Amino acid sequence: MSSYVEGATGPWEVVIGLEVHAQVISNSKLFSGAATAFGAEANSQVSLVDAGLPGMLPVINEMAVEQAVRSGLGLNAKINNYSVFDRKNYFYADLPQGYQISQYLQPIVGEGVVSVDLADGSSRDIGVERLHLEQDAGKSLHDRHPTKTYVDLNRSGVALMEIVSKPDMRSAEEAGAYVRKIRAILRYLGTCDGNMEEGSMRADVNVSVRRPGADLGTRAEIKNVNSIRFIQQAINYETTRQIDILEEGGSIDQETRLFDAQTGTTRPMRSKEEAHDYRYFPDPDLLPLEFSHEFVDRIRGSLPELPDAKKQRYMDELGLSAHDASVLVSERDTALFYEQIAEGRDVKVAANWVQGEFFAQLSKLEREITDSPVSAEQLGALIDLIADNTISGKIAKGVLEIMFESGQDAAAIVEEKGLKQVSDSGAIEDEIVTIIAANPDKVAEFQSGKKKIIGWFVGQVMQATKGKANPQMVNQLLRDKLKP
Ligand code: ADP
Ligand code: MG
Repeated sequence: MSSYVEGATGPWEVVIGLEVHAQVISNSKLFSGAATAFGAEANSQVSLVDAGLPGMLPVINEMAVEQAVRSGLGLNAKINNYSVFDRKNYFYADLPQGYQISQYLQPIVGEGVVSVDLADGSSRDIGVERLHLEQDAGKSLHDRHPTKTYVDLNRSGVALMEIVSKPDMRSAEEAGAYVRKIRAILRYLGTCDGNMEEGSMRADVNVSVRRPGADLGTRAEIKNVNSIRFIQQAINYETTRQIDILEEGGSIDQETRLFDAQTGTTRPMRSKEEAHDYRYFPDPDLLPLEFSHEFVDRIRGSLPELPDAKKQRYMDELGLSAHDASVLVSERDTALFYEQIAEGRDVKVAANWVQGEFFAQLSKLEREITDSPVSAEQLGALIDLIADNTISGKIAKGVLEIMFESGQDAAAIVEEKGLKQVSDSGAIEDEIVTIIAANPDKVAEFQSGKKKIIGWFVGQVMQATKGKANPQMVNQLLRDKLKP
């Protein structure tokens, strides 16, 4: 089901491969004991190793290795019990060693696969080529002084996992879904916080176009894109740019480009280097990384339930639809929130409330579920008030809105505003009698067979009771009273 892009001269297929850089959750760096907290004072988390001082020796951080293995298992990938750290040589002002320690021919994790859900309800498998461990570089700050650039080495040496996909994606939508899925998996695993604003996750975006069925075209690589929306914008811009060049008889240069978030465009940064330019060679300061099957099995045994398995369980055991299950498992925090509410309640009603009204209110406030003003406990209590007929579902929606504004509990709001459902049949009957008496024409219509008009009567009763009448009761009483 490829989605071709129609050019002036016929259809084109977009081909996308992503290199996702994910910062490993670990208290210390990949080869030093320095701290990794975000936002610390510049150059306050730098060891002698991170500063590239002569004579310092890197020592592998076992936690980072475990995290990479965990991530590999979560990506359904082959774990390599033997892998090698290489030096990738290049100059950069914020790379004091003059090389980056990375993994080249023998990475810690090999091929894997990630299944992504698309908007039309279909899902696709995207191949993972490899995952390797490498050091992050420092950060150059160009905006602190008119003529100088400052260097902050706090990030220098922080452990990154680079997850390289196969060129398997065919649209910006698929690329977005892939990054979202990788981020969700790593968050479930606790191996990367996935915070793209803080730079804990970013992607190099490789884009090429070709005629359907043709060999792969020449790619452009857009460096370091740090939001899903930007990744998608970059792909769309690149697609048009490349198609335009090719349709005019030109050719694509293999180059590295920069994404400009202000304009949504990409521009050339440098012509693309080849792997041999980096003079990779095994780092003589580090032994190959070797671990046992027991080590991997122990980690495998500690994995949490991941989104795909959770989705399947929600469908099989809870009877949720594929769509509902997919939405609820899409983030670990959402799934935890949902499970807390579903516990001991109608699981489908809980699912509807979480992804319906609750999400709508959250997105109105532009809040994440983790800083929702309404807790799972509070939303659960609101649902209980519907279940025991204290309020109707319709009234409950208004109550939830007030909960979001005030942080109050549902019961307090219902009490304060007098929203308790009227289940007193006498009071409802009184309203019905009045309405029937005032509308003989409508009664006649009903009695002549226009049964649908009962909806109009229900509406009148609800209006008269300010929405508080028990709807089932209103229906039942109306049917009795309207009988000829
Ligand atoms: P490099 O370090 O040179 O960028 P990698 O092997 O690390 O090379 O990553 C290459 C990335 O580019 C992979 O994600 C791969 O899927 C993708 N890719 C390779 N060829 C193409 C192509 N013709 N079009 C789009 N993406 C491609
Ligand atoms: Mg690359």
